[in-house]
Amino acid sequence: MIGVNFRRYGGLGDLNQEKTKWFTSRRHCIQNNHMKPITRRNMLSKASWLGTAVAVGLPLVSTAAEELPGQISAATKPRLKVVVTGGHPGDPEYGCGGTIALCSDLGYEVVLLYLNKGEWSDKPSYDPSPVRVAEATKACEILKARPAFAGQIDGKAIVDNAHYEQFHRLMEAEQPNVVFTQWPIDNHPDHRALSLLTYGAWQRMGKKFALYYYEVSNGEDTVQFAPTHYVDITSAESRKRSACYAHASQAPDKFYALQELVTRMRGIESGHKQAEGYIHHVQSPAFALPLASG
Ligand SMILES: [Zn+2]
Repeated sequence: MIGVNFRRYGGLGDLNQEKTKWFTSRRHCIQNNHMKPITRRNMLSKASWLGTAVAVGLPLVSTAAEELPGQISAATKPRLKVVVTGGHPGDPEYGCGGTIALCSDLGYEVVLLYLNKGEWSDKPSYDPSPVRVAEATKACEILKARPAFAGQIDGKAIVDNAHYEQFHRLMEAEQPNVVFTQWPIDNHPDHRALSLLTYGAWQRMGKKFALYYYEVSNGEDTVQFAPTHYVDITSAESRKRSACYAHASQAPDKFYALQELVTRMRGIESGHKQAEGYIHHVQSPAFALPLASG
C-alpha cells in the first residue's frame, strides 16, 4: 500500500535551468540509498533527506568565503520557487492551500499569482477589488506566500498574443521550479483563460518547470478532473481553512464546505484523511510534492 502511495507522489526531474540532472525518481533515490525497506517513518525521513538533496543539487551562489564540499551555509542555500496561478483571489488557496502551507514549511518560496483582483460586482458603482486584494494579502500571510497580480479584469479575461506575452514576462520574472495552475476544463471563463496563459508561459519557457493542475468547486467550476498525484494535507488543513476564510467576502462557509468535500474524497482515494489532488503534465519535469510532516 505504501508503495502505491509512494509512486503517486512522483519523483524529481531536471528542475535546474543550468541543465544539472539530479535524480530520475524518488524510487531511484531510495534504491541508491542501500535499498532499505520502505516504511511510513522511513519514507517521511526520506522526504526530509530528499529536501536536502534537492538543495545540494542546485548550483551555489559564489561567495567570498570558500566553502568545503557539501557544506552549505544558510546564506547560499538556494530556495525552490513555487508559483500557484489562479483566476481570482482565493482560487489558489481553495485548490492548493494545504500543499502551499507544506511547501512553505519546507522553506520553499511561494508566490500566488492571481489573474485579476476580483473587480466584478453586480453593483455598478461598487468596486470590490480593494477588499479582495486585502483578503488575498491576509491569506498569503497565513500561508507564508507572496501575492502577485497579473492585471486582468474579473469576468473579462483576455487570451490573445499580447496577453500571452504579458503573462510570459511575469512568469519569466519569477523563474519557478514548479507551477500549479487551474485545470482548463472549467465552467468559469476566467479559470480557462488563466490555465491557457499559464500553459503558454510554460511552452515559451521551454517546458522547463514542473506543471501541475488543480481543482476548485468541482461540478460548478472544475469538471472531468482525475488526479494523477495526491498530497496529504491533513496536518495543514487548519491553515488552508484559515487562508480560505480570509476571503470573507466570498461566502467561505458555503465554498469551503464544498472544497472540504473534495479534499475528503481525494483523501479516501489516496488513503489519507484529507488530500489535494493534482494532474501532472507528462511533458513537464517531475517534482517532489511535499509529504506531510505528521
Ligand atoms: Zn475563481
